[in-house]
Amino acid sequence: MKNLYIDFDGVILDTITPVYDLARKLNLDVKTQTKEVGLLFSKIDWETLIEESPALNDSINAIKKLKKSKKFNISILTHVNSLKEAKSKIEFINSLFNDLTIIPVPKSCSKTMMTQTKNAILVDDYSGNLREWKEAEGIAVKFSKEKEESEFIDITSLDELLELF
Ligand SMILES: [Mg+2]
Repeated sequence: MKNLYIDFDGVILDTITPVYDLARKLNLDVKTQTKEVGLLFSKIDWETLIEESPALNDSINAIKKLKKSKKFNISILTHVNSLKEAKSKIEFINSLFNDLTIIPVPKSCSKTMMTQTKNAILVDDYSGNLREWKEAEGIAVKFSKEKEESEFIDITSLDELLELF
């Protein structure tokens, strides 16, 4: 079995779009005002955000398929800005799956610091995370909502992993 790490925001749930919409309303530039946007993230009511965020490209069913295949040892590896955010994500994943490992990563730490990376797959929508993962000898897979060119292996649905590995 291959170790497979799946990002949460922008891969499982589309939580990013509502937060960025809110940032825009507050006149925050998500690209440059990272500190302010981090603060915004830490103030969000994650329980509500998770409830209201749609699954991306049938991600929940795709994870069920991946589990069934027994090809992967699956963990969720997600950056968090607060323990409340971590708790909401843990509760959400636990309400759907009873045996997935969930690793909340403090926003200021690299995902590569939290686990073994060598030959492990990371599926993430953020190229910065994937670059670090690849440098740490991991296999980087870029997830995007719609097909786009990427320097990494790219997928738009998690069940594509079944054919790739
Ligand atoms: Mg993400």
